[in-house]
Amino acid sequence: MDILFVMPRLGLYKKGRGFRKNLTYAPLTLTTLASLVPKELNARMRIIDEGVEECDYESLNPDIVCLTGITGHILRSYEIADSFRRRGIKVILGGVHTTLMPEEAKQHADSIILGHAYKTFPQALIDWKNGELKERYKDESPCFEGIPLPRRDLLNRHGYISINTTQAVFGCPCSCEFCVISATKSGYHHRPVSEVIEEIKALNSKLVFFLDPSPIEDKEYVKELYRQMIPLRISWMGLSTSKIVDDEELLHLAHKSGCAGLLIGFESVSEKSLKRMNKNFNSLEKHYRLIQELHKRNISIMGCFVFGSDEDDKTVFKETVDFCLKTGIDLPRFTVYTPFPTTTLFNRLKDEGRILTTNWVKYNCQNVVFQPKKMTAKELEDGLEYAWKECYKTKNILKRLAKARTRLLCMTIANLGYKFYSRDHAKYK
Ligand code: SF4
Repeated sequence: MDILFVMPRLGLYKKGRGFRKNLTYAPLTLTTLASLVPKELNARMRIIDEGVEECDYESLNPDIVCLTGITGHILRSYEIADSFRRRGIKVILGGVHTTLMPEEAKQHADSIILGHAYKTFPQALIDWKNGELKERYKDESPCFEGIPLPRRDLLNRHGYISINTTQAVFGCPCSCEFCVISATKSGYHHRPVSEVIEEIKALNSKLVFFLDPSPIEDKEYVKELYRQMIPLRISWMGLSTSKIVDDEELLHLAHKSGCAGLLIGFESVSEKSLKRMNKNFNSLEKHYRLIQELHKRNISIMGCFVFGSDEDDKTVFKETVDFCLKTGIDLPRFTVYTPFPTTTLFNRLKDEGRILTTNWVKYNCQNVVFQPKKMTAKELEDGLEYAWKECYKTKNILKRLAKARTRLLCMTIANLGYKFYSRDHAKYK
């Protein structure tokens, strides 16, 4: 039996001019699904991540195809799904967009999986083998104990910055207006610390990437995890919210456990915009404090900013760039406020008649898909372009890195990657 797993390409990180590799870490979705395939099926498995490799699907004859997708590349998922179904090959579709838009997704699949798939995916495969595949599966009480190790051996390991990715914490209890994670209503869960530690040991790598979207809400859990990571003597990178700066012990343990870099959703330098996004735990004062505390501990910062909230006018772009230069954000990243389907933001803008398109290809955070309030769509697009280009001018890279002074070799390389991206930003949209 042959099972094909596919993750469609994402424009933002695709290989091409300026990129020798996919400018990201190996995702865990497909490798985790592969690890869940019941042994008794004795399956041969293949993973295609279109961000890393191209594939002539016509030359493949799998028995079943399993696809995932977020909103920005879901139309590509549908295209691949439809082509296999025309050939009589069954398709199972899962992932975030499917969870958000099940009625749409089911038109392109024999079966859809909503939410976490640890129990439902193996069940779907057994049902399919028995000729009893159901139209939809949803796990109402997911369990995060005993998750098998992802099948990283199935990845094209040379396509990524690293394949040593893991996840300890799932979901987020916060409710930022724009966030798909809160829109999936998938709760907040974590794996047993001992299992995460065993997985890190099995990776046998000095650098590990955590993909947890919101790891520090359960402070006792994450402190225990960091404590148990200290003897492993690894470096790690991951995500965090700004709340980390409110807890001195947590900051200390993150540092001691080997934290080398954090991706932080600063989102905005405008207090009004932060409030509008329901990101009340962020503030400008906290931004400054956080950057200072992380840099003091030699922790690099990938800072994410979003433009286009109802409080943003044309001044926001320069203010944000000035903030990045002044504070020395190691690796700034800019996106457009994007109303992903079923989020609070989407529902509000829809009610206000401000959604300009539901062509999901445009929902990649680099296109304007709604009518902004205090500027035109064109001004928002131009402002985004300006922020990318300005922050990644050589003189401004040097200015930021001179201020940050964290992991200079690694950060210089990462900045050059983003410099290429920003130079051709319009092409990647
Ligand atoms: S804190 Fe982050 S993960 Fe949580 S809802 Fe807000 S944006 Fe989403």
